[in-house]
Amino acid sequence: MATTVVTAAVAGAAPRPTLAMLASGLCGRCPRCGKGPLFSGFLTVADACGNCGLGLSGHDAGDGPAVFAIFILGFGIVGLAAVVEFLFAPPLWLHAALWLPLTLIGAIALLRPLKGLTVALQYRYRAVDEPERPGAT
Ligand SMILES: [Zn+2]
Repeated sequence: MATTVVTAAVAGAAPRPTLAMLASGLCGRCPRCGKGPLFSGFLTVADACGNCGLGLSGHDAGDGPAVFAIFILGFGIVGLAAVVEFLFAPPLWLHAALWLPLTLIGAIALLRPLKGLTVALQYRYRAVDEPERPGAT
């Protein structure tokens, strides 16, 4: 028996292009309408979109945004540290003074957009005919 999978985007009145949904998530906006705020706090997903009413409370990004941030920052910071070490061979305290704050600032800057992107991906690709799954409204 074949089952029909209907994505959350199809269930809405006018589905937006996937790239527009993902861009809205990166900017912290609702993936369905692109106008309402996605977050009610720094990393707290709002219960519902203030513009279109899309239920957002069931979306669970889990550790995904943190893992993406670790990969991005780890690759970038370690690469930069290696280049600086080979070119200038600075003392260890200078490495610590450079890379620790940069890592902290990068993590804070990346977590919110990556969480918004994860929620937008869940909205785009999660099936709505599975009512037991969170976010399947
Ligand atoms: Zn909305």
